[in-house]
Amino acid sequence: MNIVRFAPSPTGYLHIGGARTCLFNWLFARATGGKFILRIEDTDLSRSKKEYLDEILSSLQWMGLDWDGLYYQSQRFDIYRDYAQNLFKKGNVYKEGEALIYKVPKDINVKIHDLIHGEISIDTEQIKDQVLLKSDGSPAYNFCCVVDDALMGITHIIRGDDHISNTPKQILLYEALGLKVPKFVHIPMILGEDKSRLSKRHGATSLSEYKNEGYLPEALVNYLALLGWNPGDSREIFSLNNLTKEFSLKRVSKTAAVFDIKKLKWLNGQYIKNYDTEKLLDLAVACLAEKKYIMPDIDRKWLKSIVELYRSRFQTVNEFSELASFFFIDDIRYDTDAVSKFLNDIDVAEKLEKLKEALEKTEPFDIAGIERNVRSLIEKLDIQTGSLIHPARVALTGGAVSPGIFEVIACLGKEKTLNRLNRVIKKLKTRADLFDKLSGL
Ligand code: GLU
Repeated sequence: MNIVRFAPSPTGYLHIGGARTCLFNWLFARATGGKFILRIEDTDLSRSKKEYLDEILSSLQWMGLDWDGLYYQSQRFDIYRDYAQNLFKKGNVYKEGEALIYKVPKDINVKIHDLIHGEISIDTEQIKDQVLLKSDGSPAYNFCCVVDDALMGITHIIRGDDHISNTPKQILLYEALGLKVPKFVHIPMILGEDKSRLSKRHGATSLSEYKNEGYLPEALVNYLALLGWNPGDSREIFSLNNLTKEFSLKRVSKTAAVFDIKKLKWLNGQYIKNYDTEKLLDLAVACLAEKKYIMPDIDRKWLKSIVELYRSRFQTVNEFSELASFFFIDDIRYDTDAVSKFLNDIDVAEKLEKLKEALEKTEPFDIAGIERNVRSLIEKLDIQTGSLIHPARVALTGGAVSPGIFEVIACLGKEKTLNRLNRVIKKLKTRADLFDKLSGL
């Protein structure tokens, strides 16, 4: 049986690279009926933080990943000490103060048989003696990693290829301890669009940032799977369940993957289109409430009509909350370009006044009724549709782009619509008065 592990150090948040490594391990286990172990590498007691640990665990759960075993290295110091002492007794280990150090044998060629990169060989000339236990008694990474991987029966070490330089050191330790060397699978790094290693400079790197921006776990998981793996054809949409049927290490690429935020956003938009509406509403409520645009007890039926109106227009929940903010807050932001383009004409106040009257009379205040009354007003005034619709859109939404104006007005509701029109009409009139006075001079 295949047994794999993900071994994060809780010295930082779970980032895109770690999440991808975890996903590949998990998929390999689930695809082959194997086991997936989560091992928290918290040996550095001063840098490991509970806050990071909690965030790592909740991010993995958010992704929909589960594990068949959970270990904390901080609870296993006795085991590492025993193994280090045994090795010390066998020789080839020396003391430096309290630290135990493994003496790397000279002139040996260590071979890594990597499932992705093939054979890599390194001469021990290039490898320094290896610390097993530090002077404070805590184990060094390469040592406890080997002890644990062996004790936990790990068959495949699937990790980022930034660890390739550790692998020969670990192989030497397996051999010194008389333990079976597992298979190694070093997956290529993730790069930013400028082809340098993905880092904070390229934008959000932690999973929780993506979660907070309104990315859906299903979309993120789908995207991460495609970062270095492909199904061998042009399919791009994969649920976690489908991935477990399709995933194979054979299709993991040898070359680095480039993180493309536009692609992730696009994929997220695809998921949003078909997402369970109640779940989407939950996310929208949380996001809007967090921004203080709404109270959490908002009328969900109303919110649903707005979400549906925008569903094909937003790619993240955060984008939705900004695009649709004018529905919820009264003090809306007016886009200066839109204002100077569409609310500049002195006749505009009069047209909006007429619109207000027509809408006041509209009952029931639904899309069909609104459209009928607005169109007949346009006919009566004998004006171009756009000369009323554009100013109305800016007055009501603050911007020049929105879904269909009749739908927007219906969703906004009569009271908000009339108040907003009134406010703009008043402002425009004061401006017109001023203009009259000035031209009368
Ligand atoms: N704790 C190590 C890391 O986070 C694990 C490396 C490994 O998978 O062996 O990089």
